Parts: sequence; structure tokens; C-alpha cells
Amino acid sequence: MKFGGTSVEDTCAFQRVVQIVSAHKDMRPVIVVSAMSRFTDALLQSVQMAADGNASAASSWLEDHYERHEDVASSLLGAVEASLFEAALNKARSEIRELCVSIAAHSMPHAALQDSVVSYGEQLSSTLLAAVLRENNLPAHYLDARRLIVTDDEHGRAAPLFAETMRRTRAELEPLIEAGEMPVLGGFIAASRSGATTTLGRGGSDYSAALTGAVLQAREIQIWTDVTGVLTADPRLVESARTIPQLSYREAAELAYFGAKVLHPKTMQPAVEGRIPVRVSNTRQPSEAGTVILTETAVSPSTVKAIAHKTGITIVQITSARMLGAYGFLRAIFEIFDRHRTVVDIVTTSEVSVSLSLDEASALPAIIEELRQLGTVEIEPRRAIICVVGEGLRSTPGIAAHVFSTIRDINVSLISLGASSVNLTFVLDEEQVREAVMRLHAAFFERAADVYVS
Ligand code: ASP
Ligand code: MG
Repeated sequence: MKFGGTSVEDTCAFQRVVQIVSAHKDMRPVIVVSAMSRFTDALLQSVQMAADGNASAASSWLEDHYERHEDVASSLLGAVEASLFEAALNKARSEIRELCVSIAAHSMPHAALQDSVVSYGEQLSSTLLAAVLRENNLPAHYLDARRLIVTDDEHGRAAPLFAETMRRTRAELEPLIEAGEMPVLGGFIAASRSGATTTLGRGGSDYSAALTGAVLQAREIQIWTDVTGVLTADPRLVESARTIPQLSYREAAELAYFGAKVLHPKTMQPAVEGRIPVRVSNTRQPSEAGTVILTETAVSPSTVKAIAHKTGITIVQITSARMLGAYGFLRAIFEIFDRHRTVVDIVTTSEVSVSLSLDEASALPAIIEELRQLGTVEIEPRRAIICVVGEGLRSTPGIAAHVFSTIRDINVSLISLGASSVNLTFVLDEEQVREAVMRLHAAFFERAADVYVS
């Protein structure tokens, strides 16, 4: 059971977690928790302040957040647990202060020190949650996740070493679980082989939960957050967006890119390999089932599951007559994006041109410079991607016609269908995305007798 930052943001949130964990205690859960909401951002900002030379401002900047922890501790802990937590908090405060001083004192890269600083977010939330659970007669046992999850030394977005992580996690957790205890660990944080603190990238607590669940062969990985599962569309655009009861891993992976922030495909990988269901539930509405993500074969067939979208997309088109019948052209193009570490999302090609979409275009000027050696380059900024997601899209007749006739008066480009069997993706003008998403949602989800929805 993983609880996100908003699920432990204040005293009431901790109380909800206690209720939820109590209700599941017979399933012998392992608890993974994020830092209190906004605390990781604040820690990162304080590292920045320290790097700018202001170490004392960097540590005092965090006082409000320490206070949030104290508030929870004083409302929910008895005297003994409260003073233990107070000691842990004071220790964290002085260690962070020292780290900020070293960051300020040296001008060298501080990725490793930054990881040490941000790790206190999860160290404190997990220490506090374990105490609160114990106070409520649950057999919670705090563990330092850095002893369980082993990574490479890519600070800030370290990659877990699976075999090593499995060995250590099992060795530490299995005896505890066997003895009826409930392990509680911070997400996001890990350590390299040499023992340096690392972090798994923003939002990495989900990854920690999936890894832990996979190595323990859990029955289910539960992601407790502040939305009721994955929705059929962005609720800011579509008021009637609703929870999707079941998704396949592939569908969920496609949706993740579109800011269905809920689960990153990388995060799910351990669950996919272990074929472990991942459930996304809402801490504020614990009795609703949320969305469960399963293997392809376990999901009930329904052609269209969601209408996702993303704005801020840039389209790059490269045209060259030399491309006709030539080989190596695509490679030459992609090498350029590679060198500039720029992610390409959609790709479409004709005999003499290639179009592709980027959502992070900061390296674009340099890229264009190099692409010009291959052909003429055209750029279209302010585009949006819409992605219609569902298992069986490719094999169901009439879907594309239905999609495009619904938005027949809106100009679309870069249509991509079939690269994965679960999505139909296309590009349109940013200004038209709201209208298009609303209409598609209405067409596929709001008309009762619609033939495409099971
Ligand atoms: N606390 C970390 C972050 O904010 C990890 C997480 O919340 O999953 O990115
Ligand atoms: Mg989070």
C-alpha cells in the first residue's frame, strides 16, 4: 500500500491513512509513503538556495514544513512516541542544516548532496507514519528504504538494481511479515552499492511501491492518492469524466504519458513483469474501487477507455528529396535528437518527409541547425496531442471513422495508429484541444447506446 504526499499532508490525512490501513491489516500490507505534499519541492528549493550561497535561508525556509510534522505528531502521538519523533525531527533538521552548509561552501556539482537533503522528506514521513500506526495499535515497523532498494549512482534519477534489491528486500521484510509485523518505508529513496543516498526521480514513491510489491510477489499493489483512479478524460476539460474500472498495463502505459500522472510506465514495469495487479484508489473515498490495472488478458474488452491529451507540443518536419529510396535517413535524423537528449514522441513518415513531435523543445534551435544539413525543416509550435486509448482499437472496424467524423471540422495532422494496438494518436492546434476532447468524450462515453463502448 503506497500513500502519496497529499495522503499524508496533515493530521486529518494521517487519520484517514490509519483507517485505511486498519481496514486492510489482515492482508498483511507493506506500507510505502511519500514525503508530505510540497515538502520535496521545498527541500529542492532549499538546496538551490544553498547552492546560491545562502545556507541559513536554505534551512530556515524549511521550518514551516518541520512544523507540519510536529503538528501531526502532537495531535496523534502519545508522549513516548511524540518525544521519539521530536528527536528524529531535530536530528533531521541539524543534518539538513549541515548539508546546506556544505552545498553553499563548495561550488562543485551537488547531485549527491541534493539526494541526501531531499531524502529527509520520505525519512520523516515514514518515521512519523510508523509511529502514528503504532499509536493506533497496528504492528508498524519502520525500515530505512535505503537498506532495501539498491540503485546505480545516477543521482536524482537512479535506476534500481533488481536482483540486489530483491535479495535485500526479501531478507529484511519477509521475516518481519512472517512475524506479523507491518513494515513501513519511505518511497523514492534508495542507496547506491557504495551506500550513498540516491533518489528514483520525481514521483518515485510509486516506483518504490511497485518494486517492493514485485520482489515480495504481493497480491496487489495499491497506490493511494487524491483521485479516484484513472479517469476517462481530464476532468478540467470534461466535467463528466469518470473512473475507468479496469485498464490493461499497455493502456495505462499509453495514458501515463498524457499526464494521467497516476502511474509512470517505468513505475509499473516491476508489476508488469510480476503480473501483479496495480490498484489506484482515493484516500478520501476509500470505499470506491478506483482503477485496477491488469494484464491484457484479464481486462474486460472495451474498445475505447479514455481520451487523453497533452498541450505544449512542437512539431518538427524534415523534408528532403534525397530521402526517396535512400537508407540511413531516419537514423541520421534520430542521431541528432539523440545527441541533444531530446525525446521524440510521435513519428510519421512519407517518402520524402518525416514529421515528429516533441514535448520538450529546449534544445530545438541547436537541433534545427543540424537537421538543416539533411533537408528543409519546418516547425509548428503550440500543438496538442490527443490520444484515444483502448485495447482492441486496431482490430475494431469503424473506430477511426467515428473519431474523425466527431471532429470533422477540426484540422488534424500526424495521425498515428497501429504502432501500439491500444492507441490512436493525432495532433491538432492547441486552441482546439478542449473542444475536440469534449466532443470525443461525449461521443464515446456519454451517449448511452454507443456501439463502441461495452
Ligand atoms: N516525494 C517525491 C516527489 O515529490 C516522491 C513521490 O512523491 O513519489 O517527487
Ligand atoms: Mg508524490
